[in-house]
Amino acid sequence: MLRNDDQLDQWDRENFFHPSTHLAQFARGEAPSRIIKGGQGCHIEDRDGTRLLDAFAGLYCVNVGYGRPEIAEAIAAQARELAYYHAYVGHGTEASITLAKMVLDRAPDHMSKVYFGLSGSDANETNIKLVWYYNNIRGLPQKKKIISRWRGYHGSGLMTGSLTGLELFHKKFDLPLAQVIHTEAPYYYRRPDLAMSEADFVAHCVAELEALIEREGADTIAAFIGEPALGTGGLVPPPAGYWAAIQEVLAKHDILLIADEVVTGFGRLGTMMGSTHYGLKPDLITIAKGLTSAYAPLSGTIVSDKMWKVLEQGTDENGPIGHGWTYSAHPIGAAAGVANLRLIDELNLVQNAGETGAYFKAALTDALGAHRNVGEVRGEGLLCAVELVQEREDRVFFDASEKVGARIAAALLDRGVIARAMPQGDILGFAPPFCLTREEADEIATKTAAAVAEVLG
Ligand code: PLP
Repeated sequence: MLRNDDQLDQWDRENFFHPSTHLAQFARGEAPSRIIKGGQGCHIEDRDGTRLLDAFAGLYCVNVGYGRPEIAEAIAAQARELAYYHAYVGHGTEASITLAKMVLDRAPDHMSKVYFGLSGSDANETNIKLVWYYNNIRGLPQKKKIISRWRGYHGSGLMTGSLTGLELFHKKFDLPLAQVIHTEAPYYYRRPDLAMSEADFVAHCVAELEALIEREGADTIAAFIGEPALGTGGLVPPPAGYWAAIQEVLAKHDILLIADEVVTGFGRLGTMMGSTHYGLKPDLITIAKGLTSAYAPLSGTIVSDKMWKVLEQGTDENGPIGHGWTYSAHPIGAAAGVANLRLIDELNLVQNAGETGAYFKAALTDALGAHRNVGEVRGEGLLCAVELVQEREDRVFFDASEKVGARIAAALLDRGVIARAMPQGDILGFAPPFCLTREEADEIATKTAAAVAEVLG
């Protein structure tokens, strides 16, 4: 189907605005392009026939792996029967209603309803609107600010780009917006004082949060948003006791908790939901990526009983909720979601993410843990990272201009493996599909060690 000549390359450079890309270098032909043609299991194949082991599952989203006919057929069947109808004023399809039930069956018990969107970003926009609506209905119109963490990732819209705590997503975009405030990331390896124990560091994160709430005033703060384990900001599982301590502070100040499970939802940590994994009791949960394994765009906001009651009260007082997208609960996305969640159960993929994830982390540690420039190998389930440093003992980071992470990722790509150089710090990220085998895990670990040796000796 793809044109096998240079014209496609030319059209690409001339017409296509690629996200998260150096636009000028790409247009000038200085930055690489790759045209992807197919995929099977944990591998993708490009137009030139190069086969790559995708150790980042696209953007940690193709959780069941590439080329699953069960999902493709569900999408085709839905498109043939009914490609579209909207979900406004009580409309639904068998797929969207079934998927809502399946999502709630997998969510913590205190969750009540699911609203479907299309992307993680729009689901988080929905969350913030619901939080504001909730406090307006409760008669607390001043209580609106949202606390996020530095290094959190919650999308790249106006509000969600503000919630994201990464410099690249703010710089020159006039973000963050004033309603968003940031606090310490639960990133023990980057603790401000190396002498701190994990417990000291948790106490430090709590003290930072308390100080922020004190400064801003609890009566102005509506919610706290966080990923159960930090994703794009570095792939960092939280230190022990972090979530229990944070939730205690939030409860004390009547601040809602939004768990952004776009990455952790539906199995990535080896448990169905990250909230359950770490003992979170969120008021809202964001889901996307793993909901359909990215076979079709679909996201969701899962609403707790506590918030749902107030939303119902709000519509009794004000009429129908003024929120919805044309493509909310799109039947094709919903059909993909139903087939995807069924497949995850049938193939026992959550358990495999936990077991193969533990094996993979051990393989990475064996292959790299002793290298003088490897500061830390960390992970939970199939979410792992290798952090590179100039000096391991004193934890001296490389200068960003050396682009060590990106160079290693390029050397690894030359060996046929895709890892992600995370955007802030020299961190190699791994989040392969859940069908990863032990042989593939070994291959990634061995080739990563070779790539590190090529760049750093
Ligand atoms: N939240 C988290 C935790 C994410 O990792 C992402 C994307 O990577 C998003 C939200 C935004 O999702 P999307 O890119 O679908 O808008």
